[in-house]
Amino acid sequence: MYKLSKDGVRLARHPMAVHGFFSRYRTLTRWILISLFFLLPWIKVNGLPSILINIPDRRFTFFWMSFWGHDAPLFFFVLASFTLGLLFVTSAWGRVWCGWACPQTIGIDGIFRQIEVLVEGNHTARLKLDRVPFDREKIVKRSTKWFLFILMSWLVSLTFLSYFIRSEDLITMVVSPPHENWIPFLITTVITLVVAFNYCWYREQFCTDVCPYGRLQSVLMDEDSITVVYDEKRGEPRKGRLPEKGKTGDCIDCFKCVVVCPTGIDIRRGIQMECIACTSCIDACNEVMQKVKKPKGLIRYDSENGLKGQKSLFWRMRTCVYLGLCFSAFIGLFLYVYGRSDLDVTVLRAHERPYQVLHTSQEMTLITNHFRVNLKNQSYEELEVDLQQTEEMKASGIDIVASKFPETVQFGETIEDHIFIKFPQSVLDKKGQMTFQLHIVAKSKKGRETLRKDIHLVGPSKPVIE
Ligand code: SF4
Ligand code: SF4
Repeated sequence: MYKLSKDGVRLARHPMAVHGFFSRYRTLTRWILISLFFLLPWIKVNGLPSILINIPDRRFTFFWMSFWGHDAPLFFFVLASFTLGLLFVTSAWGRVWCGWACPQTIGIDGIFRQIEVLVEGNHTARLKLDRVPFDREKIVKRSTKWFLFILMSWLVSLTFLSYFIRSEDLITMVVSPPHENWIPFLITTVITLVVAFNYCWYREQFCTDVCPYGRLQSVLMDEDSITVVYDEKRGEPRKGRLPEKGKTGDCIDCFKCVVVCPTGIDIRRGIQMECIACTSCIDACNEVMQKVKKPKGLIRYDSENGLKGQKSLFWRMRTCVYLGLCFSAFIGLFLYVYGRSDLDVTVLRAHERPYQVLHTSQEMTLITNHFRVNLKNQSYEELEVDLQQTEEMKASGIDIVASKFPETVQFGETIEDHIFIKFPQSVLDKKGQMTFQLHIVAKSKKGRETLRKDIHLVGPSKPVIE
């Protein structure tokens, strides 16, 4: 765990840089994820950003598909797929998420520690700088580092905000004076401070003391889960722990696995909650093993059963259940997204009186009902929407008065129209009611889609006397 000074103050951790097989792939993964984080909000297709969570308008864009507040099942499926996927991954490969993909690890290792190395040098130079009193060099280095830290935290917070505010609006806000955009300005300032606090100072304490996922891992993993482990049988007793001529294990007690560890633990004490499975100790130890001409893998990815020399079972009850549930949630998500209609239509009765008698005579009494029609274009192209006069309506003498139809609805747009439905009183039942199906046709370049809505007509239940 992190070290404390004599006065009980936490000493910053400066893990030694490590090179090796896993480090190469982790660096590559890190750069891909960091690039995605910074670029995704700016990649637009048909004017839609890849991800935009527009809370005031309750409109959400995920990978150029728009969703609205009423698409709650979608959020359930996304959340369920992610959570169950994470449960599966943890039960199979331990905290691989923490070491390879968690924003906390990626941000610290990929951005903020790189700034530190750039300004203050490698881990030895940084440790030395921590110990020396403040002189000219230390003041210059620390000020430069913190200036870059704050600048980077500000960029991270702006990028984070661009997932909630359209990028054009964000640029306008950034270039205009703060008093014109007080709320976004304050939000950006708070996020910048939180990012700076977390990534520049709090760091690994978040993983070891705060993150609930770290605490959950012991419940999710079993003796067949693959994780970063030290082969005690092969490594012990360590060199120097026995009289000169006794047989020692492969561990030469060089502590390299400890100095490279970002959370400061000694993996040789067994699987610990503080281990974020970053694989640095694997690479460090492999390098040592190579130098002392011993086989690699004293620290490696393996399971508890694997360490005992038994075969690790990948497909266990828990991995099968988690993966099965994850697939079900994913299929639910897929069906929901592809089963969505391009047009969402809501027809509501207008607030004034329920019906109006237009005309009455010996032959016929003509009634009208007023409705509000809400059209929401959920597709990614323009829709031409019209109301269809069906055979059923013609036979019953039902007529639609809708001056604005056919109506063009742009993609992502919601509009409200008013329609009046005229019908003879004779179509109503004894209670003065009748239901028919209104056909709404949406035409796009893809083709046409017809939606059917049940419309309840009301009128006087008794004959109207002139
Ligand atoms: S790096 Fe390997 S050899 Fe060195 S102390 Fe750690 S486990 Fe032992
Ligand atoms: S013990 Fe090894 S894998 Fe775990 S956090 Fe430390 S360096 Fe990373």
